[in-house]
Amino acid sequence: MSSPATRSFRRTKIVATLGPASRDPQVLRAMIEAGTTTLRLNFSHGSHADHLNHIRLIRQLSFELNQPVGILQDLQGPKIRLGKFSEGSAVVTTGDPYTLTSRPIPCDHRHGYVSYNRLAEEVPLGATILLDDGRVEMQVEGVDADTQELHCRVVVGGTLSNHKGVNFPSVSLSVKALTEKDQEDLLFGLDHGVDWVALSFVRNPQDIQEVKEIMARVGKMVPVIAKIEKHEAIRQMEAVLSVCEGVMVARGDLGVELPAEEVPLLQKQLIAVANRLGIPVITATQMLDSMMTNPRPTRAEVSDVANAILDGTDAVMLSNETAVGKFPIEAVRTMDRIARRIEYEYQLPQPAERWLPPSATDRLYRRLHETRDSGPDGSRGWQGAAIPNAISRAVGEVAGQLHAGAILTLTKTGATARNVSKFRPQTPILAITPHIEVARQLQLVWGVKPLLVLELPTAGQTFQVAMNMAKEKGLLGDGDLVVMTAGTLQGVAGSTDLIKVGVVSALVAQGVGIGQGLVSGRARVIRGDQPLGSFHAGEILVAPYTDARLVEAMRKAAGVITEEDSLTSHGAVIGLRLGIPVIVGVKNATQVIRDGGIITLDVQRGLVYSGAFRAGSMEPGTV
Ligand code: PGA
Ligand code: MN
Repeated sequence: MSSPATRSFRRTKIVATLGPASRDPQVLRAMIEAGTTTLRLNFSHGSHADHLNHIRLIRQLSFELNQPVGILQDLQGPKIRLGKFSEGSAVVTTGDPYTLTSRPIPCDHRHGYVSYNRLAEEVPLGATILLDDGRVEMQVEGVDADTQELHCRVVVGGTLSNHKGVNFPSVSLSVKALTEKDQEDLLFGLDHGVDWVALSFVRNPQDIQEVKEIMARVGKMVPVIAKIEKHEAIRQMEAVLSVCEGVMVARGDLGVELPAEEVPLLQKQLIAVANRLGIPVITATQMLDSMMTNPRPTRAEVSDVANAILDGTDAVMLSNETAVGKFPIEAVRTMDRIARRIEYEYQLPQPAERWLPPSATDRLYRRLHETRDSGPDGSRGWQGAAIPNAISRAVGEVAGQLHAGAILTLTKTGATARNVSKFRPQTPILAITPHIEVARQLQLVWGVKPLLVLELPTAGQTFQVAMNMAKEKGLLGDGDLVVMTAGTLQGVAGSTDLIKVGVVSALVAQGVGIGQGLVSGRARVIRGDQPLGSFHAGEILVAPYTDARLVEAMRKAAGVITEEDSLTSHGAVIGLRLGIPVIVGVKNATQVIRDGGIITLDVQRGLVYSGAFRAGSMEPGTV
């Protein structure tokens, strides 16, 4: 038994990097439709004007497609680079001497400028230096502090060109966490409402703190992602991950800073720690690299994406593939297909029909997750996390046992949805939030589908509206069981403490009916004193109350619904006189009933259903 949501819904999130290959509105639209949930703006490239155009375009498309899309600002960080070559590039030969210096000189086959002014002070004799993602390797044979020069020997030769990266794998440099450019970029990003900020080359918790201090200074806190690509960060993985809201396994630079064969194990370890802390983790770089030039991935790439998902990653990321590749849309579609196939494996009813052993099942759907002691906000100890953890895990288990169609979480900060996601339930998590920013941020979190719903006076009403919306989107059907969860402590993020089981029904609202029978029609919702405009015969008037100015509309209406609850109210009296069905006393009718939606009134019982009445399709008595 599987509900529409279980079947149609992809758990793994897809991050795509925006660039020249994807900034065409048609291409970007297709990429979002193909399943991109978050877009990365790479601040190593492009001007602020470019990025502003990109932000506007993403917001516009997201609005047109009626789908929240996250924007991740990726700050360049203190990346150290070569300078410009007088000839554009130069070949360096194995065994030759080569001089690196922080003095601004043009580069050639014997000398190179490096953009770090303490180079000769901090890089010791014997150190290994890697250039252009490790394609060229040098070793320091002499240090001259006076001339700011490192005298090196080329260990592996190759071609060097303008602004290629320089890595110092075993050296701890005293670089700042944020360059001046990073600070300007960050302020720009905060000003234009990015949803996530990622910092490159993070080494320690203080680096993350620096980003947060700037945010605090301008009063705009945005969740921060630590890009793990330095050996220092690996050494204090737990400490770094505990102070950020998300993490990226930045395999490109990580595989240069450390031997490449360490990367697969570090990926698993980083994912495991992030899962345990309940923060989203992105697996990044070269996932479908060959799709830069080919419409089809290699088998090894398909396996890489699949294995990251099996490891428990929240999101998989495309970099060059979508930024400058020839097949950006195909690359997103490919990831979508791989993710769906892997996730489907666990929805097969009989383990015997599955290819995978149960141990792998538990990795993706972590039903045996141990109780952990760290809270969603990084807080420690049972006060912070024990209750939300227990409830969130139970929610997943209850939903699984009942074959529920969805888990519904009410979440103002996203914390409740993340808590539930942390336990990797098989059941889709619908995150009901009134805040668009939260909806966008959740587009990085495994298994969560954000639904933007206005907050109503009671949780019950908000859940009801969300269920109607989920039905309209084809995520739930009448009769599906749902497990609802929320934090009932006002203003406390992640205080998840409530579980409730319900059935999706067509019942939207309830009041006191005057008259008899069933009538269906399009709802015309009037709020406050706004002018009515033209009212069509057969529509159902929904208003806080009626008065003389609405009598004309009432004459044409197939039915009337009012919030005002008196049987001697204008609506009740005039309705009765005109002989039209009226339901009065429908609490928050103008909010829970969607303008333009088709509704059905069971007048005698005072019940309002979503959808049209067709004989046999709806039995009002069963609700
Ligand atoms: P980058 O980061 O693409 O900004 O370099 C990711 C990585 O290094 O893997
Ligand atoms: Mn990097």
